[in-house]
Amino acid sequence: MSAPTIDGRRLLDRLNELGEIGRETPEGCTRLALSDADMLARNLVQSWLLEAGASVHIDQVGNIYGMIAGANNSSLIMTGSHIDTVSRAGKLDGCYGVIAGIEILQSMKDQGLQPEQSLVVAVFSNEEGVRFSPDLLGSRVIAKDIDLDDALAVESRDGKAFCSELKRIGFAGEASPWKFLPKYFIELHIEQGPVLEASGKTIGIVESVQGHSWWQVSIGGCANHAGTTPMSLRKDAGMAAMRLACLLESLAADASLPLVATVGTFSLEPNSINVVPGRARFTVDFRDTDNARLREAEILLQREASALEDQGFSVQLQNLSRAVSVPFDLDLCDRLESAAVAQGASILRMVSGASHDAQMMAKVCPTAMLFVPSISGISHNPKEKTLPGDLVMGAQLLTDVLWSLANKH
Ligand SMILES: [Zn+2]
Repeated sequence: MSAPTIDGRRLLDRLNELGEIGRETPEGCTRLALSDADMLARNLVQSWLLEAGASVHIDQVGNIYGMIAGANNSSLIMTGSHIDTVSRAGKLDGCYGVIAGIEILQSMKDQGLQPEQSLVVAVFSNEEGVRFSPDLLGSRVIAKDIDLDDALAVESRDGKAFCSELKRIGFAGEASPWKFLPKYFIELHIEQGPVLEASGKTIGIVESVQGHSWWQVSIGGCANHAGTTPMSLRKDAGMAAMRLACLLESLAADASLPLVATVGTFSLEPNSINVVPGRARFTVDFRDTDNARLREAEILLQREASALEDQGFSVQLQNLSRAVSVPFDLDLCDRLESAAVAQGASILRMVSGASHDAQMMAKVCPTAMLFVPSISGISHNPKEKTLPGDLVMGAQLLTDVLWSLANKH
């Protein structure tokens, strides 16, 4: 039995329809987790799942599952993503993976097909982490990266508890978050970066999600008169910070991809045209798929900080956040690659620069991700776009792979 053929027009129309919920013309749409707009989007997605013949279940953290039972109902093959957004978002991001999953179920129904194993489309709660922190909250609970009770007690920026907002929007479900543990999980997503487009390939097979290490650096020198203090007698915290920032940039530039280093904030005191800066503060964001290289970058930062102390500066380093990189299942990546090649797609093996629910699901079962190109690499922006043909091709590829997994013996 061959895989269902999806209806590309319906997929694109539904992306547009969902993208209208929370729309703030012309600045894109805003559907922060568990807001009224998120509730409307959840209701719409739930109605599409029911229309596709799925049974719909809500778990205690508000994750939605749409399931088509297999003929041999022994294991679950899952896909999914999220429909919450950042402020002023585009129409794709997580919605693409969710609607593609629903399209698979709907096409199966339209074409009278039933898989051997059950197929499940998951819609995870609070992926973005804008209104409630941490991000990836729904999948984080499934992965036991956070306790269910702690997740429910998380408070929003506006002082509302996650559990009471779940109740308010009608999505405080009763199912256990561990009721639908899959045998395989595959997430389809737009790349949200420029790598695929620059390579000229249409499908990204994601082998891992990179880790990160975030730092706050504060360097103390001596503020002094810019006219009367000779260069040799200065303790210029600003120049010390700029030299260190340049060194980190060249460390990342010299290393082959994927190490990246970013100094995203920078401030000087007293921040005056005629005063040698007495203090400089900046942040460093290191990311890499190789945890050892990430550690080396941290060690270099610490070594340079102590070298500055030897020169008479005071330096404080504070680690703000750290996450190890998550590898995906290489057998599953190979399976995705064969299916893509069979479909005539050009592929690129790559890493994900952004976080995704799949990195949590990787703790539960063999997991992988598929990317389609983002035009100009733009995401989390109303200008977020992917060619319609690429969106349809990615969704058909997901269909082919899930279908083969659901019928594999
Ligand atoms: Zn996303």
